[in-house]
Amino acid sequence: MKKIVVLTGAGISAESGIKTFRDADGLWEGHDVMSVASPEGWQKNQALVQDFYNQRRRQLLSVEPNAAHYSINKLGEEYNVEVITQNVDDLHERAGNKNVLHLHGELRKVRCLACYSVLDWDGDLSNKNLCSCGGNLRPHIVWFGEELPELQNAARIVSESEIAIIVGTSMQVYPAASLIGYLPRFGKIYYIDPKPALNYELTLSQDRLTIIEEAATTGLPKVVNNLLAEI
Ligand code: ZN
Repeated sequence: MKKIVVLTGAGISAESGIKTFRDADGLWEGHDVMSVASPEGWQKNQALVQDFYNQRRRQLLSVEPNAAHYSINKLGEEYNVEVITQNVDDLHERAGNKNVLHLHGELRKVRCLACYSVLDWDGDLSNKNLCSCGGNLRPHIVWFGEELPELQNAARIVSESEIAIIVGTSMQVYPAASLIGYLPRFGKIYYIDPKPALNYELTLSQDRLTIIEEAATTGLPKVVNNLLAEI
């Protein structure tokens, strides 16, 4: 089986109704991103940060995966598929995708500040909730200024792939944007975006790049059907 890596970002979740901070000039659902998505914001006002992610978690449980998520699942019938997502939602998993790496953490998980255990979490989180070790819990989200713990794993997955599909992300935010540079030289790239903008790595790869100027829910099923027809 050929190996395909699918790199996904906010655009694929937006079509399910999930907004992100990239929608409007540094605001995420009306909040300054640094106040809700940085260690400094957490130090300053933990209650605000908890409340913000509680709302995001509740919203997530009210939305569903869309045609783009499900089409990746279909690709798995004939290819070895791994998803690398910048999204913190679980819509890929709920669509049935098993191999999903989250670069920026996961909304439905929390992390202990004392023992670093990661726990599944579906309800609200407050400072009254403690880990079994007694430690305080925080959202399992990679904030601005924090390292991406999965970046090396993501780079390895891309380096082992023969085809890359980029969808719902403009690949402008580093270091995630540099991942495509790990694809082998023979690897084909499909880039699905209603307003494509080539970053440095994609500009260098134009000889093997196919651009599909469409939204994720229409463009991705087309690419998937073409790839399945090639088998
Ligand atoms: Zn703990």
